[in-house]
Amino acid sequence: MARFIFITGGVVSSLGKGLMAASLAALLQARGFRVRIRKFDPYLNVDPGTMSPYQHGEVYVTDDGAETDLDLGHYERFTGVAARQSDNVTSGRIYQGIIAKERRGDYLGATVQVIPHVTDAIKAFAQADTDDLDFVLCEIGGTVGDIESLPFIEAIRQLRNEVGRVNSISVHVTLVPYIAAAGELKTKPTQHSVRELASLGVQPDILLCRCEKPLPDGERAKIAQFCNVRKEAVIPALDADSIYSVPVQYHGEGLDSEVLRAFGIHDAPEPDLSRWYDIMDRKQHPEGEVTIGVVGKYVSLPDAYKSLNEALIHGGMANRVKVNIRWLDAEMFETDDDLAANLEPMHGILVPGGFGERGSEGKIASVRFARERNVPFFGICLGMQMACIEAARNTSGIEKASSTEFGPTDEPVVGLITEWMSAEGLQKRGADTDMGGTMRLGAYEAKLSPNSHVASIYGANDISERHRHRYEVNGAYRESLEKGGLVFSGLSPDGMLPEIVERPDHSWFIGVQFHPELKSKPFDPHPLFKGFIEAAVKQSRLV
Ligand code: GLN
Repeated sequence: MARFIFITGGVVSSLGKGLMAASLAALLQARGFRVRIRKFDPYLNVDPGTMSPYQHGEVYVTDDGAETDLDLGHYERFTGVAARQSDNVTSGRIYQGIIAKERRGDYLGATVQVIPHVTDAIKAFAQADTDDLDFVLCEIGGTVGDIESLPFIEAIRQLRNEVGRVNSISVHVTLVPYIAAAGELKTKPTQHSVRELASLGVQPDILLCRCEKPLPDGERAKIAQFCNVRKEAVIPALDADSIYSVPVQYHGEGLDSEVLRAFGIHDAPEPDLSRWYDIMDRKQHPEGEVTIGVVGKYVSLPDAYKSLNEALIHGGMANRVKVNIRWLDAEMFETDDDLAANLEPMHGILVPGGFGERGSEGKIASVRFARERNVPFFGICLGMQMACIEAARNTSGIEKASSTEFGPTDEPVVGLITEWMSAEGLQKRGADTDMGGTMRLGAYEAKLSPNSHVASIYGANDISERHRHRYEVNGAYRESLEKGGLVFSGLSPDGMLPEIVERPDHSWFIGVQFHPELKSKPFDPHPLFKGFIEAAVKQSRLV
């Protein structure tokens, strides 16, 4: 039977619970255990798919097409275990299921209540599909004391009784703030937070104390005494130089040993942390550096591009270089001089995914700059669509080329397939015909042209990548775009949807309709990011 680790947060939000969960899972995995991490989000949205990136940061998409919390990206990057729909649930999704059952009459006249109906649904979610696992780590979003997280804490309390205390532990992540005026770290907020959690019936076994200064022994003992945990189970979690140092750092503080001890496991092998030491070494000792300009829309909020940021760093690790990322607001490129001043120092230009018209002309102008100046270019999702519009306008003479996402156009180089595919084509695609109003989400296969640049980068002709978009490059424009030098080197298996474009006459110019950043891992960098950064390194030697 799988054992459960419940992770809650106290005092303030943004303590990095997600990274902590991912790091603990990685440490247990390094000792040979099979792990899976799940995230419980107390908000009422059914999923984060409809939330603004400013509210929520990136929406992380799984192979099975779920739009999930960005913490699932950390989980997957740190453990290599592919996240699934069943690893992220919100209060909204739980209530949606319960209310649908209630309307169908499934409750046979009973009164439907938070306890037991909501708590049962939460417990069922935590326990589903766990037979082949040693540990299930369940992270509860939000902070203990929030009204909306109460049903989740109550479900943990019940579940701990049901599976037995030996099969479940509670890890509470808190903040030990440093008060400069007093020159002291303060333990009181942690004491209050643990008291709040205990009052709900959940006594933590381990406290992970985020602090910006080392936690003195005396303070550690004080927390242990007031919070009713072993002193060794009060784990200091100092700010790390990089997220990829966190597993090794927490191991040094004894986190995984304390977790195993709390479960009464005394014979676990020591962790093999060699891959973590390798990536730390690559991160800490780069042999050069490159600067990449990311021309996007949500640039003031790097969380909106979390996986992209990490994938670029992975590409740097693979090439042993530091990657400086310049987040450039596409809207500020009002004149060509502006654009050149911002883009000339870049060794690579990347146009990421995005939605809506705002900033699109700046993105198209950036593609043009990269093409004309032979600067490595990587277009992702909307970025590939912008590369096709740029090609249509400037190398294929289709001046009015645009995307129907931005409004009606005479030259829909990008559009919904229901707008451009023949009735016969739509029929052939069967289940996809109603895609006009919905997203293409999750993993889809693509066929690469043999001898193309992408086929050599992947070392394969068949790939599978994750998607999240409504619009597609219009296959009817393929011939005119290819005449202008843009090659369609990756297509959906039925040959109908353009998935990858590239320019053979350019040093490195690739646009992809999918999101390769979602599958990149520090110890398994995505080949496209590895290749892009390699091209940027070459470019840096030229300028
Ligand atoms: N807005 C575009 C579409 O819906 C691109 C989406 C994206 O970049 N993720 O097709």
